[in-house]
Amino acid sequence: MNAKNYMNSKKTEKNEKVVLKFCDDYHHVEQKVLDIFDVFGLEHAFKNKRVLLKPSIAIPKDPGEASHTHPEFVRGVVRAIKKLRGRPIIGESSVIYGFTREALDIAGIIKVAREEAVEWVNFDACALKKQHINGHRLKEMYLPKLLQEVDYRISLPKLKTHSLSLYTGALKNQMGVIPGCLKARMHLLAPGLDALARAIVDLNVFVAFDFALMDAIWAMEGQGPSSGSVVRSHFIAGSDNLVALDAVCSDLIGIAPEDVLITRIARDVGLGPCDLDKISVAGDTGQIGRRSFQLPTLSSRNVVGIVKDYIFFKLRSSLIRPYAIKDLCRDCRKCADICPTGAITSGKTPIYIKKCLSCFGCYESCPHGAIKLKCAHYAKKSFRQKAQGFALKDLL
Ligand code: SF4
Ligand code: SF4
Repeated sequence: MNAKNYMNSKKTEKNEKVVLKFCDDYHHVEQKVLDIFDVFGLEHAFKNKRVLLKPSIAIPKDPGEASHTHPEFVRGVVRAIKKLRGRPIIGESSVIYGFTREALDIAGIIKVAREEAVEWVNFDACALKKQHINGHRLKEMYLPKLLQEVDYRISLPKLKTHSLSLYTGALKNQMGVIPGCLKARMHLLAPGLDALARAIVDLNVFVAFDFALMDAIWAMEGQGPSSGSVVRSHFIAGSDNLVALDAVCSDLIGIAPEDVLITRIARDVGLGPCDLDKISVAGDTGQIGRRSFQLPTLSSRNVVGIVKDYIFFKLRSSLIRPYAIKDLCRDCRKCADICPTGAITSGKTPIYIKKCLSCFGCYESCPHGAIKLKCAHYAKKSFRQKAQGFALKDLL
């Protein structure tokens, strides 16, 4: 895919379509997704094409908790793409910086990839390229080269309320293309909700996803994105316009699209409509009614929790550093190929820590386990408690 196609060229404000499909069982996803593709005339679009599938695996929990895209949803989409003779690839970077591999494992995504014999890519441990985004807030960012190399990009968000942004869907799912701790840099570059929303829209303008399929079979209400309650909302939504998709889905759960800052800003820059009169909704509309979700409450306790999380992730990106064990290093230079800043050339030589972004790409990608992570002694207990459930032995 060339650079021109990589940039978003689909600036439109009318005639966008969203298709809703009733689905009360994850085993039916494949057929429902094929039905949605059929409405968009995509039966032949994927033939011999590399199709990137980007689920939302921010924080890995049991799929029954509905905090991330269900692995069986991913399986259904993989099978649909294969049936249309495409070549799916799954790619993601979690918000558990440096632990995407474990996050994908716990979320059941690696198991699905293995069973379906498809490639999966850890965005924290793949080749990156510095991109000049030149957006309103986001000027440049290291992004996976894979985003440019695939032929088709499909977002697989989860329908959830969100304690900060009220709603989270396809546009926000884009955060997961940013590797590792660079996501924390987004917060630094764009402090505050408005600036962060504008930065996410910048990212959507630069990295155009061709399609989005919303996993709303089980959704989350209340204290989303990770501590809410499960709702069996029993539908899948699909569209080739992510703004229209988010507008329709937020409306279905009782949140006016205009009230969602990211949707509104995306509309303002011409990415798509959030006025429902400009969107045609097709599919099983008779079976899928509006159901107002319980909204997140921003109590002072929640705010304290959010601030604590924010500080934790910031500290994690600044206190945890990679180091190499020379005796384990085989000098294969894979870490050097991955490193976006040239901070490491091999595990045989010291890491130039001033150039290190703490993206943990070297740690994730070293085939011989020669890169370890370390953090300041006084922070170890906090990290151990906060990241319980993960294989943190390398930190301890
Ligand atoms: S040395 Fe630092 S910047 Fe380079 S890959 Fe490792 S963690 Fe990332
Ligand atoms: S990837 Fe691992 S084994 Fe290869 S040079 Fe780097 S530290 Fe050494």
